[in-house]
Amino acid sequence: MEICVIGAGYVGLTSAVVFARLGHKVTCVDKDSEKIKKLNEGSITIFEPGLEKLLVGFNRNISFSEDIEDAIGRAETILIAVGTPQLPDGEADLQFVNEVILTIANTIYSHKTIITKSTVPIGTNDKLVEILLELEVKRSRFHIVSNPEFLREGSAVKDMLHPDKIVVGLEDHDQQSLIKLKQLYYGINAPFVVTSLKGAEMIKYASNSFLATKISFMNEMARICDVFNVDIMDVAKGIGSDPRIGSEFLQAGIGYGGSCFPKDLQSLIYTSKKQEILPKLLMATEEINQTQVDVYMDKLKSYIPNLTDKKITVLGLSFKPNTDDIRSSPAIRLIHKLVAHNAKVHVYDPKAKYETTNVIQFHHVNDALNDTDCIIVATDWDEFLYLDWNDIKRRVNENIVLDTRNFLNRNKVEKHGFTYVGLGRSRNE
Ligand code: NAD
Repeated sequence: MEICVIGAGYVGLTSAVVFARLGHKVTCVDKDSEKIKKLNEGSITIFEPGLEKLLVGFNRNISFSEDIEDAIGRAETILIAVGTPQLPDGEADLQFVNEVILTIANTIYSHKTIITKSTVPIGTNDKLVEILLELEVKRSRFHIVSNPEFLREGSAVKDMLHPDKIVVGLEDHDQQSLIKLKQLYYGINAPFVVTSLKGAEMIKYASNSFLATKISFMNEMARICDVFNVDIMDVAKGIGSDPRIGSEFLQAGIGYGGSCFPKDLQSLIYTSKKQEILPKLLMATEEINQTQVDVYMDKLKSYIPNLTDKKITVLGLSFKPNTDDIRSSPAIRLIHKLVAHNAKVHVYDPKAKYETTNVIQFHHVNDALNDTDCIIVATDWDEFLYLDWNDIKRRVNENIVLDTRNFLNRNKVEKHGFTYVGLGRSRNE
């Protein structure tokens, strides 16, 4: 199948490479000429485990271009994978999707199956149909399909090759597109969940909202555990063995971040309120998440009341491990708070970069740790599990370790004389 993927970001580039791997002929386009230049030079533009290897292995099936019109013209199937960021009031910003649909409208000379992979508010795909018709594109020239993406950054390739489902939202009675989608995903072993355009859009929002709520729920439980000297890890184990609850996503910590959960939650809150529904649970999820960084700041201040000129080392910038993505990362929110308290912030991350005033980023973890007054683990990169605490002890001023991900081996850290501070990690005394 000849396909055109519009947007060479986390979703677009991974989709393009995976569809090339499935044997399709893929043109991946982006309006960012730097990105396209790099990709054409053979460099990968994002860090995503396994992606570069797959790209090299299947580069005969994939090309990169800035010429969006040309790529649309040649393809029978078009995937929209552009960003849908949020506006200040929480509404999803559809400017990139709208730009793409205008380009498509000006370029359709044969039938196209237009697949929306971007996360878009409920009703958007119906609106895209209306826009194309208003722009006098013949009804026989296109079908719109909603096919939201569920990959997770850090395991995007694996998630796309082995998804737990493929959600397909169709226009009324559009069996032709369903056959197309089955051809597109041929080789992937996953059940199809077939629904309406709006149904698919809602599944994506409900999925992210549920997961975000699960995280905030555990963070609230951990706050309560802290007060009662209960270990949240025991609670997670205890409740996670119940299949109705499930053992995944029960890790208390500094809260969710990234380019999806925060913006998708806010977008659903916005659309619900617009329809005069007050989504109280979603609003509480969001509020717990927003204040989670303050919980850790309070913990820090209980050990170091005045942070002025204190050297604080933050390990981890990305919103989760195995990605270089720092969008809405709680680590960045924490760093801003530390800077606002006049701390001297040293940071280290294996992949992510962040430049701002009053923050020094180091290339080696040990350099970031020298003479520090507190170590804060802000992202649960595996690398931090293997830190040499014996060596670190000799480098630091003070022995405080704030583990905002509850993931370090507490006994190992304490054995070397550090004060370990987690969330809801009291000993069962
Ligand atoms: P991204 O910001 O990494 O990439 C988007 C790309 O689209 C950018 O390279 C940008 O230059 C390009 N673009 C914008 N307008 C364009 C245009 N008119 N023509 C061509 N290219 C254009 O975004 P992402 O993280 O890949 O997310 C894309 C969509 O997928 C979003 O709606 C997001 O919510 C959704 N999604 C993301 C993830 C994730 O983990 N990142 C997972 C599931 C769904």
